[in-house]
Amino acid sequence: MIPRNIQNVAAEFDGLPGIGPRAALRFAYWLAAQPKERLKRFAQALLGLSEGISRCRICGNWSEGETCSICADTSRDRTVLCVVATPQDLNVVEGSGSHTGLYHVLGDLLDPIEGRTPETIRLKELFVRIGEQGAGIKEIILAFDPDVRGDTTALYIARQLAGTNVAITRLARGLPTGAQLEYADGATVAEALENRRKTG
Ligand SMILES: [Zn+2]
Repeated sequence: MIPRNIQNVAAEFDGLPGIGPRAALRFAYWLAAQPKERLKRFAQALLGLSEGISRCRICGNWSEGETCSICADTSRDRTVLCVVATPQDLNVVEGSGSHTGLYHVLGDLLDPIEGRTPETIRLKELFVRIGEQGAGIKEIILAFDPDVRGDTTALYIARQLAGTNVAITRLARGLPTGAQLEYADGATVAEALENRRKTG
């Protein structure tokens, strides 16, 4: 018989990315054995997630203020925009140290089967941003996973921006097909950025 409180905690873990019911239960039992102070810290950190951060109003990245530190940094190249699916992907590109421009976080990639259409990800915001008078964006770098969803999203963006002066480039296939940007190391991403290719 599993105590109700442990079941409750396990239920919260169950279904997190990569976590099934067994692992969820293992976490719950492990936490139950921790000192009270440790549990309080854990709970406080979760509360901080719900209260302390929001989406940057410009790029969509998580931010502690209205505008994230990258968008607020005036030393960055405002003519180059790196478009990523998720904040984690942004961190990987930023961690490579090879991108000095700004970012745009879509939130996800197009996947019609899963119901991710141009309306459900932050594509409209991207096009508005590019089209803004005086924005001066000359190049957008598509840093997407090299898979069907990445290809679909890249093609859609290229079509929407056809006829504009914005150059569209995509990370070189230094990333093996099917690889996930999220797990790529900095050197690989730096190389893929360096060898990015025109698309569309
Ligand atoms: Zn931002």
